[in-house]
Amino acid sequence: MNEKPIFIGMNGNGRMNGKLNVNHHGHNGSEEQISEIGDMHVATSIDTPLRKDAFDLSDTEKVALIEEKFRDILKILGMDLTDDSLRGTPQRVAKMYVKEIFYGLNPANKPAISVFDNKFKYGEMLVEKEIQVQSFCEHHFLPIVGRAHVGYVSNGVVIGLSKINRIVDYFARRPQVQERLTVQIANDLKKALNTDDIAVVIDAKHMCVSCRGIQDDHSSTVTAEYSGKFKDRATREEFLKYIRL
Ligand SMILES: [Zn+2]
Repeated sequence: MNEKPIFIGMNGNGRMNGKLNVNHHGHNGSEEQISEIGDMHVATSIDTPLRKDAFDLSDTEKVALIEEKFRDILKILGMDLTDDSLRGTPQRVAKMYVKEIFYGLNPANKPAISVFDNKFKYGEMLVEKEIQVQSFCEHHFLPIVGRAHVGYVSNGVVIGLSKINRIVDYFARRPQVQERLTVQIANDLKKALNTDDIAVVIDAKHMCVSCRGIQDDHSSTVTAEYSGKFKDRATREEFLKYIRL
């Protein structure tokens, strides 16, 4: 198997310019295609694929429906839901999906971003590193856990540091693909800070790689999005020196 080294770079449009180093065996039948798309972790778009009616149901209605469906899944697996330990599981999972681990699907939950004038006229690069990333692979619904490193050069405004953590968390808390997560964070910061001079690097472990499939618990996946000044080699190297990756 030749599936380990995954280093993907993207250009400003979010197009991949790196290569996914994976086996290319034939597409024989849809089941194989489905598992191949999952194993390759291929993203199809920068926007999270959501339907137009995604938020017609209230959170309460969603929790009730997911609880019912998850109970069915456990039943199909043969679990005895009259057992005290399992009785509350469908409701716990449903609440966790809607209120916690996928709260970032709903634009109503987007953190309010306030920016401030760059009063000190700080003109150098600002780097916030080691930001916790807790996300979920949309191909297997298993955790993606890692760190994000963000750099920007102020174009007259600055952002509260904890807001960067909140932006990372908001985009992470949805079924995700790491490349898409990287670009979504970068695009949002570009808008908030009114600048193209943004770098986002994410280094994360995918439980779907460690717990199933190839079962490699050592590899991690690095994705990067550089735009504006970070496209210059010297600026990018300065950023990478700070995050020491
Ligand atoms: Zn996966």
